[in-house]
Amino acid sequence: MSTFQELGVIPEIQRAVTELGFEQPMPVQSEVIPRLLAHTRDIIALAQTGTGKTAAFGIPVIQKINVKQLTPQTLILCPTRELCLQIAGDLTDFSAYVEDIKILPVYGGSSIESQIRTLKRGVHIIVATPGRLIDLIKRKTVSLGDVHTVVLDEADEMLNMGFSEDIDEILSHLPEERSMLLFSATMPREIEKITRKYMLDPLEITIGRKNEGAENVRHLYFMVHAKDKYSALKRIVDYYPNIYGIIFCRTRKETQEIADKLMQDGYDADALHGDLSQAQRDYVMGKFRNHSLQLLVATDVAARGLDVDDVTHIINFGLPDDYELYTHRSGRTGRAGKTGTSIAIIHTKEKGKVVQIEKLINKQFEKREVPKGDVICEKQLFNFVDKIEKVKVNEAEIERLLPSIFRKLEWLEKEDVIKRMVSLEFNRLIDYYQQAEEIDEPKEGPLRQQKGAYNGKRSSDRDGSRQPEKGYARLFINLGKMDGINPATLMGFINDNVKGKVPVGRIDLLKSFSFFEVPEELAGKVVNAFRGMYIEDRKLIVRLAQDADSPVREKKKFFENDYGKKSKKKKVRY
Ligand code: AMP
Repeated sequence: MSTFQELGVIPEIQRAVTELGFEQPMPVQSEVIPRLLAHTRDIIALAQTGTGKTAAFGIPVIQKINVKQLTPQTLILCPTRELCLQIAGDLTDFSAYVEDIKILPVYGGSSIESQIRTLKRGVHIIVATPGRLIDLIKRKTVSLGDVHTVVLDEADEMLNMGFSEDIDEILSHLPEERSMLLFSATMPREIEKITRKYMLDPLEITIGRKNEGAENVRHLYFMVHAKDKYSALKRIVDYYPNIYGIIFCRTRKETQEIADKLMQDGYDADALHGDLSQAQRDYVMGKFRNHSLQLLVATDVAARGLDVDDVTHIINFGLPDDYELYTHRSGRTGRAGKTGTSIAIIHTKEKGKVVQIEKLINKQFEKREVPKGDVICEKQLFNFVDKIEKVKVNEAEIERLLPSIFRKLEWLEKEDVIKRMVSLEFNRLIDYYQQAEEIDEPKEGPLRQQKGAYNGKRSSDRDGSRQPEKGYARLFINLGKMDGINPATLMGFINDNVKGKVPVGRIDLLKSFSFFEVPEELAGKVVNAFRGMYIEDRKLIVRLAQDADSPVREKKKFFENDYGKKSKKKKVRY
């Protein structure tokens, strides 16, 4: 396998991607980077999100920029504002050590004046949604005469969204001598038309999905009220009597709490997380490996060292903020030709994550109802009866005791003996489920509300859709009350990690995430200061709390790349 160096990537970019945790190029990168660097020919890449395509085109386009010439030299077209910001953010990451490179995201719903001002100051790379770029072309505020590389990302999506004519128009403004790179998950006719019209003898590359969930893993989700998550977990575990599974939690604290509760409730469970000593971790892993432990409750990081082939179930006690983690988690079952089940216990606000993960793994989750008490008891009972049928009887050892046992039970009919035996095993379970209230299924809102757990507009003002104070931007952070933060620690945390003083406005602390407001002009700096940071095992996410219906709140200078370079992956405590 090649290295970034062998692909011809310059040391500045190698350093940046190494700090992002990229150890080796992914297949699409090995294919695309050297070709784009050599400027040989046009490329069509059939590749989806999750294959590493952004770096595949991002790295070479950065490297090919002549920073001394302050005109647009690369144009990247993509379908949505979110993708536009994401690509611009990724390119900013890859170019962290390339001096003076200017990357501008251009998308609808944000101030066009600010984009025009930045264009006037000069940029090297434009990442644009087609509609807004057409606006700028019409206003003659952007000149594309020096563009030598054009990338169409998610070309099929752009066509689905009706951008076909806009793309035609934009491409007609580019010089003939330029290389073109087209990424698409599918190859519909319209794309073929574009390629025939605008590409010269293109090279076609098809890249399999890195993140495609293993074929033999089923993905289920159970939606419950947040308060019912633990009871739902118990029911799910009870419903699968032969489960041999890993339960993933978000933090060490939550991991220990869930393991403790399960143990107190009589389950064969134990915890694995970074607060344990190495010896303790080895012990727990050893127990799990040799099946003397049925349920391992673990953090993502701690479970990394564990390689077990016959895990039957993965349970996500809540979904991770970093969706990639879901693929790592679910990949721990369904191995070595076996089938496996990956279960997510989510609350209503996490439905958006399910949708995002489905896109990433290219598979649908099946929605399930939390099993009712009678169904669980039945399942356990039959499993028990099955065990009775299959148990190996040690005739030699038991023989001498049998006569007195038979004499003792002789007054009972065969049915009575069976009833008593089964009750002995089941009274605890039956009692529990007779008394336990069934878990209500929360009502799901319309899909608008489900899209993106924190991005969708909700009626509550304690969410991402709340309007920030004038002059302030509202940011999302994936830390909440359950992480032990309060307004004072959050403010301290922000000011400890962002250079210069950051006045923090309104703070809304929620259970597992929060919102805070900072002056508009500092929003980009704050977001970047936290990029690549980890708290305990969790990737820290700070981003603009977006509201699709209030694009005016998309902040102007968000990714204009003229704030300081970010700090990279580091461990922090708050
Ligand atoms: P993309 O397909 O561009 O959305 O990338 C999918 C994910 O893979 C992103 O989280 C990237 O940061 C990550 N990624 C891209 N290239 C590499 C690499 N060479 N090694 C590890 N992770 C990578």
